[in-house]
Amino acid sequence: METTLSGYDSRQMYGFLPSDTKGVDLLAQLALDMRWSWNHAADSIWQQIDPEIWELTHNPWIVLQSVSKEKLEKTLKEPGFLEEVQTLWESKVRFHKEEAWFQKYHSDSPLSCVAYFSMEYMLDEALPIYAGGLGNVAGDQLKAASDLGIPLVAVGLFYQQGYFRQSIDENGKQQAYFPHTDPGQVPIIPLRKENGEWLRLKIEMDGNTIWLRTWQVQVGRVRLYLMDSNDPANFPMHRCITNELYGGGPENRIRQEIILGIGGWRLLRAIGHHPEVCHLNEGHAAFLVLERARDLMNAYQLTFEEALATGRAGNLFTTHTAVPAGFDHFSPELLRQYLGEYVSNHLQIDFSRFLALGKLNTENASGHFNMAYLAIRGSGAVNGVSRLHGEVSRRLFSKLFPRFPFHEIPIGHVTNGVHMPSWDSKRADKVWTQACGKDRWRGQQENLHAFMKGVPHETLWNMRRKARSQLVTFIRSRLEREKRLGNPFPHYPETAAEIFNPDTLTLGFARRFVPYKRTNLLLHQPQRLAKLLTDADKPLQLVISGKAHPYDDTGNKLIRQWLQFIEDYNLQRQLVFLSDYDMSVAEKMVQGVDVWLNTPRRPWEASGTSGMKVLVNGGLNLSVLDGWWAEAYSPEVGWALGDGQEHGEDPAWDARDAEALYDLLEFQVIPEFYDRNQDNLPEKWLEKIRSSISELTPRFSANRTVREYTEQYYLPAAEQFLKRTGKDGESGREILKKISALNTYGQGIHFNEVHVERSDHKLLFTAYVTHRGIPAKDLSVEVFAEGLNGSLPEQHAMKAVSENGNGSTVFTAEIKTGRQEGDFTPRVRGNFPDVLPLEHEWIIWAR
Ligand SMILES: *Cc1c(COP(=O)(O)O)cnc(C)c1O
Repeated sequence: METTLSGYDSRQMYGFLPSDTKGVDLLAQLALDMRWSWNHAADSIWQQIDPEIWELTHNPWIVLQSVSKEKLEKTLKEPGFLEEVQTLWESKVRFHKEEAWFQKYHSDSPLSCVAYFSMEYMLDEALPIYAGGLGNVAGDQLKAASDLGIPLVAVGLFYQQGYFRQSIDENGKQQAYFPHTDPGQVPIIPLRKENGEWLRLKIEMDGNTIWLRTWQVQVGRVRLYLMDSNDPANFPMHRCITNELYGGGPENRIRQEIILGIGGWRLLRAIGHHPEVCHLNEGHAAFLVLERARDLMNAYQLTFEEALATGRAGNLFTTHTAVPAGFDHFSPELLRQYLGEYVSNHLQIDFSRFLALGKLNTENASGHFNMAYLAIRGSGAVNGVSRLHGEVSRRLFSKLFPRFPFHEIPIGHVTNGVHMPSWDSKRADKVWTQACGKDRWRGQQENLHAFMKGVPHETLWNMRRKARSQLVTFIRSRLEREKRLGNPFPHYPETAAEIFNPDTLTLGFARRFVPYKRTNLLLHQPQRLAKLLTDADKPLQLVISGKAHPYDDTGNKLIRQWLQFIEDYNLQRQLVFLSDYDMSVAEKMVQGVDVWLNTPRRPWEASGTSGMKVLVNGGLNLSVLDGWWAEAYSPEVGWALGDGQEHGEDPAWDARDAEALYDLLEFQVIPEFYDRNQDNLPEKWLEKIRSSISELTPRFSANRTVREYTEQYYLPAAEQFLKRTGKDGESGREILKKISALNTYGQGIHFNEVHVERSDHKLLFTAYVTHRGIPAKDLSVEVFAEGLNGSLPEQHAMKAVSENGNGSTVFTAEIKTGRQEGDFTPRVRGNFPDVLPLEHEWIIWAR
């Protein structure tokens, strides 16, 4: 569906605009396009309309909703104002239409629409429908998709209590608040049908019909559709299903996931979208594969199995979890209660067949249903979110692929990246623009690296000094403001100017307070930390932020421990805990700190993104070799903690890591920062910044991530999907027949005999293989050896040398090698071009 650019009028809104003076409609369109969260061209007009509200919210839509009629009309009459609005509006329209990366490089591809499904989106604090990392990834990818012109729509839920907000009480305890989000005050509007009616969807669950309201959010060129159940026609119980993100128990979770997956697909269909590709950002949306299959059943008269096979070619599942407990599970009873009728009436399969889709052992009907298994069995491709996490995921899911060598488990990776224009400071933006031009995040990123390498030391250092000083100003005013709430803990000095120093080395870390993040690693030896912070010559200052789950005692204690440390050691001038970590706090922190700290337990951090946000700003990373840092780190770009191995929850190892962290800070980080040349520049430090900013920023940008998703996953998936829906769905049916033949006969293949002869540096393998039901040309027979010392495996194709009619063939291969014959094993796989690696259930080994 075309992005409509004209015709917003107050009937389409949720609330009313204060005035219908000329220009207000254009302002409304600008305020409703969340591109303002990364493009600041219009900031000055919002500030002009209402400086106070702008300062407090940085949300144009609120400015427009709260300003008085008189003030708005007066501003519009000021000289040049309306013209400026007009110009901004025109540039927005141009941006929506112009040729971008996708149109330039892939205009001939069959991909017309990707649908992105996620439980949370972090686009801006103005739309609080996020909790953390997962939402960050989703939000930043939508923005990059807009920059690149990817034809993408997104689906999510609109939570009116979103995620909780935090304050610290006078005893240093976290208090959680759930302010209500008024839909009229967030930059979303009801999703209207052509005739102006608000689109409402119906969904059946647990014997009830539930109405869903629908909304739309404009994110540059990309549109995000949201659903909520707070429709007055519903029972109160059902109106609250979408109140909170990750709130309630398993029963509410399954309801939310049914809405996201099944409701989400219906929403797209109701407004006329036909996505070839669905991207499941985590397993929460996995029910989508069922509804997509159901739709295909109806469209092409397919059975459920045919439809599932057809649809899966167009689904991509991205997993973000590094531990088995991270996957959503549901009990069979709960599933029967919520999906029993749907499965028998709509999917028309036995409930046991349905349950098998979420089980490891498809024969065992008891035990929990794993949403990640459903997602894998309903997708044509699966990926983790960093190189290391790809490996971790292959390990986590290896039981689904028995007999596959580890490297060949068909789970890849696309390393996350962040949307640089959303996280750079104004100053950094200027430096980058001078070096690389304005459109640097919208193309292939060629040469960015070389351009940034050439930026002079002075420019980089001035940028850093300015950024640090702005962070200090922000921290002081934030603490001032918090003080007005009462008597916060710890007790900060009377004059805010005593807090922090704009020239002091500044460290930051912010994250959820959960044990695996080891947020308190730095507190292992409190005295040692206090000493570093208060050193007279080479001082350090530290800013911390983050929330603990409201009901998680351990996390709450971890926060409290930091606050108590500040109070006990009287460190209020050097160490600050900023409450209510959200996007705006994160932004200030990643722009201002010199070093970003991250200390998770390897390999629990699937990727991590906050450290990537400092790159564009010239911040450096000091982190455990986990997630993205495991592939980004080299001594030229930052500091690494730990030995790159896994040590579980061993307290002795934590103590060693803590010791190593203090040593790194004391003997490397701090001295390097204060080691100045005659111009008072820290040369070694600046070299690190130069390498980090130029080499890592492009690599860990969402631009690179989204291009990779597009080229490696979306485009091939679109092709495969369209192939399967070809001939009115008949092709999908034929491919399913091939898959069934492959998997039925494949299991019966066996090696009768294998001979090996050695001569000089050669091994000659001869294998006698029986393969009833599959001709030799459809087999790929090879000799396989695991790689040595962690390198990739070796594979040598075997040739059919004689085939006798009844399905038995002799294969041979000659291999030049110095390795032992025992290292090599012949094996057989199918060689069916249209069958996806995930659909291939077996590998037959000679031994
Ligand atoms: C970046 C960000 C996150 C995610 O950070 P991780 O390092 O991936 O844990 C969470 N919350 C906010 C507000 C952020 O800005």
